Amino acid sequence: MTRVFSGIKPTGHLTLGNYLGAMRRWAADDQYRSDALFCVVDLHALTVDHDPARVRRLSRQSASLLLAAGLDPEQCTVFVQSHVDEHARLSYVLECVATDGEMRRMIQYKEKAAREQRRGGSVRLSLLTYPVLMAADILAYGTDEVPVGDDQTQHVELARDLAVRFNQRYGHTFTVPRATGPAVAARVMNLQDPVSKMGKSDDAGPGIVYLLDEPDVVRKKVMRAVTDSGQDVVYDREERPGLANLLEILAACAGGDPAELAGAYDSYGALKKDTAEAVVEVLRPVQERHRALSADPEYVDGVLREGAERARGMARPTVDAAYRAIGL
Ligand code: ADP
Repeated sequence: MTRVFSGIKPTGHLTLGNYLGAMRRWAADDQYRSDALFCVVDLHALTVDHDPARVRRLSRQSASLLLAAGLDPEQCTVFVQSHVDEHARLSYVLECVATDGEMRRMIQYKEKAAREQRRGGSVRLSLLTYPVLMAADILAYGTDEVPVGDDQTQHVELARDLAVRFNQRYGHTFTVPRATGPAVAARVMNLQDPVSKMGKSDDAGPGIVYLLDEPDVVRKKVMRAVTDSGQDVVYDREERPGLANLLEILAACAGGDPAELAGAYDSYGALKKDTAEAVVEVLRPVQERHRALSADPEYVDGVLREGAERARGMARPTVDAAYRAIGL
C-alpha cells in the first residue's frame, strides 16, 4: 500500500493556506487511499526565535485542528514529531550524506535567514539543516508520496536526492519519495501582499486568514483584500495576482475553475463577497469540530500517544537499517 507522510509546523496559528494547500486533501483523500502518517513537526518550530510555552500550546492546537479537519485516527496515524526519537536519530545520519552547498541553496533558507538578519537576530544552525531533518521525517517511514503545497517541493526534492545518494553509497535502504500537490490553490497568497504566500509564521496581519478566525473576521479580511488596478475580472497570475488569488480561493472553496469563474463576475465587490462566504462555509465545520475537541483534551492526548507508538514501530526498522548500512 502507498505510504504517505506529511507534516505541519507549530510556528503559528494554522491558516487557510495550510488547509487548502494541504490538510483538506489529507483528510478527504490521502488517509483513505493510503497508509498515511500526519505529523505536527515541533522540532522544526525551534529553528527560529520562539517562545517554548507557545510552541507547546500550538503543537496541541495544531494536532486538534488536524483532527477537526477530518483526519481519523482509525484511518491514519496522527502524532507529534518530538515524541518519536527516530526523526532526530536519522537526521544526523543524513547530515553525513548532505552537503553544505546544497543546504545553502535552499530558497526557504535564504529567505528566512535574511529575515532573521533583518530583525537583528542570529541565524540558528538548525535553520540551515532544517531540510535534512525534513528528509529524515519523510525517509524514516519508507514514504512514497508527500502531499504538500508548492512551497515545499524543493525540500521534497532534497529528500529524494539524499535517498538516492545514500542508497548508491551504502546499499538500498530508503524508498525514494515524490511530492504531490493540489490542482487548485497550491499556493494561497497573502490577501494584502499577493506576491507573498499566506504563511502562518509571518506576523499576524490582515492578509492572513486563520482557520479559527470568526466568520466576521474572515469577511472583513477578504473584503479588504488588495485587488489590482483595472475594472474587469480576469484570471492572470502574473499581471493580476490579487485577483487571481481571490479566484483561486473561491474555486478551491466553492468548486469550479478560476478562469471560468472570472467570467461570471463584473465587479470586484461581488467576487469578494462570494469568496468571503465560501471561505466561511469551508471553515465552519472545522471550527465546530475544533470546539468539541477542545472540550476533550484527554481524547487528543490519547490519539497522540497511540500515534507516536505506532509511528515509532514503523520508523525503527528503517532507521536501524540506515545505521547498520552507514557503519554504526
Ligand atoms: P507554513 O508555511 O504555514 O509554516 P508549514 O511549513 O507548516 O506551513 O506547511 C504545512 C503544509 O501547508 C505544507 O504542505 C505546505 O506546503 C502547506 N502550505 C503552507 N502555506 C501554504 C499556502 N499559503 N498555500 C498552500 N499551501 C500552503
